[in-house]
Amino acid sequence: MHRYARALVAGKVVEGFLEEDAFVAGDIRHSLDQVRLVAPCRPTKIIGVGRNYAEHAAEFGTAPPPEPLLFFKPPSAVTDPDADVVYPRQTRRVDFEGELAVVIGVRCKAVRADEAEEVIAGYTICNDLTARDLQRSDGQWARAKGFDGFAPLGPCIVAGLDPRRLRLQTFVNGRKRQDASVADLTYSVPQLVEYISAAFTLEPGDVISTGTPAGVGPLQPQDVVEVVIDPIGILRNRIVAPAS
Ligand code: MG
Repeated sequence: MHRYARALVAGKVVEGFLEEDAFVAGDIRHSLDQVRLVAPCRPTKIIGVGRNYAEHAAEFGTAPPPEPLLFFKPPSAVTDPDADVVYPRQTRRVDFEGELAVVIGVRCKAVRADEAEEVIAGYTICNDLTARDLQRSDGQWARAKGFDGFAPLGPCIVAGLDPRRLRLQTFVNGRKRQDASVADLTYSVPQLVEYISAAFTLEPGDVISTGTPAGVGPLQPQDVVEVVIDPIGILRNRIVAPAS
């Protein structure tokens, strides 16, 4: 299985593959402590899906929506594996949301669910960071979901997975906070690709973040969030206070 990744090597972004302890680009093996991984794709848009696990919807006292509930995160929200994420001054509550993310491989529109696999490059992990207080007070979700750094992506893209067989776990400072089977998605990956591509042309590198399971909660500066989906790996980021 190939784990496609990108890394900064001598100041340039290089494509390659992630192995246990190395980033391999062509014939060159770089030890992982010598290179910095960057987000494995550059989306023109990130489409988020709200309340797509029944148990998470229940946390907010709601049922799953009658159709997929969509929102956007801007490309400027994307950040890298292991990057620090600044806790914005405008919010008093930032929640982690560990999610399986679908990466689109080809330009497409109006894809049927039974053809969805043909347009999917692979799967990565997204932490759909959310300013929960602003999500409520703003009415629209653009600011709450869209701050710089609020879409960590990575550490790699794995093709050919069956999302129904994946398990998602989120840890904060090493303590387990989310643990779910991706099979429990209310709207499956093929259904999401059909519904979303009926509305928007999807471009290579675009990301569909499929929603978070139960267990979301607030973060504080210095917290380390790890979202784990085997065999994609661990998406790890530290939250930091804004510079004073
Ligand atoms: Mg989410």
